[in-house]
Amino acid sequence: MRKTLVAANWKMNGSREFAGQFFRDLDLNGVDCDVAFCPPFPYLPIVADLLQEAGRPSVSLGAQNVSEREAGAFTGEVSAAMLKDFGVRYVIVGHSERRSLFGETSELVAQKYVAAKEAGLVPILCVGETLEEREASRALEVIGSQLDAVAELAVDDCWKGAVVAYEPVWAIGTGKTATPEQAQAVHEFIRGRLGAAGEEMQIVYGGSVKSANAASLFAQPDIDGALVGGASLDAAEFAGICRAG
Ligand code: PGA
Repeated sequence: MRKTLVAANWKMNGSREFAGQFFRDLDLNGVDCDVAFCPPFPYLPIVADLLQEAGRPSVSLGAQNVSEREAGAFTGEVSAAMLKDFGVRYVIVGHSERRSLFGETSELVAQKYVAAKEAGLVPILCVGETLEEREASRALEVIGSQLDAVAELAVDDCWKGAVVAYEPVWAIGTGKTATPEQAQAVHEFIRGRLGAAGEEMQIVYGGSVKSANAASLFAQPDIDGALVGGASLDAAEFAGICRAG
């Protein structure tokens, strides 16, 4: 049985004050799914402390990005080993905002995925099609090639110990959620593509997930949770999504 994972992607939002207030407001009573927070880099240790104080040491920390390089003269980069050093468990790689706004190719995303795994982090690999690609009936082809780029670079057991997030680009931050059936069809395709490891892997959905639509998404057989952007900035909304898990 796969456990549900609900991961908060705060993107470039928040402050020290915001984080303090968020964790004072957050009530995770009655939640028994895996929960993770991916704040911006400087807030990782602060969120770790706030989780300790809130008596939630089992909630995990995640980062939103990682360098594909190990160490050295790479100004502005943060390595997987550094994240590990700060108790980070998950790292998002290949978010569509990184692919489209920061020019990350599938090859670079694959290198980041490998760097994360080699350091003992759990990559949350984001894949998903644009509206144009969906309308041209190319969604599965695009997602398949995003997965293949990782499989080509990562060696044996490529998918073991990783999470895949299906995030249709047209549903991110737009208020347009894929219907549970649309998402399920893609999740089933992704699972098939992951081979033997696929049965055990969490494949989560992302794109305008809220407490009002989480339960119907999670009821689908291949949807194992959510990567939550906008709604993860509201403690009550986020807790509502976790409770649906
Ligand atoms: P959203 O973002 O929930 O605001 O649509 C999801 C994501 O980008 O991970």
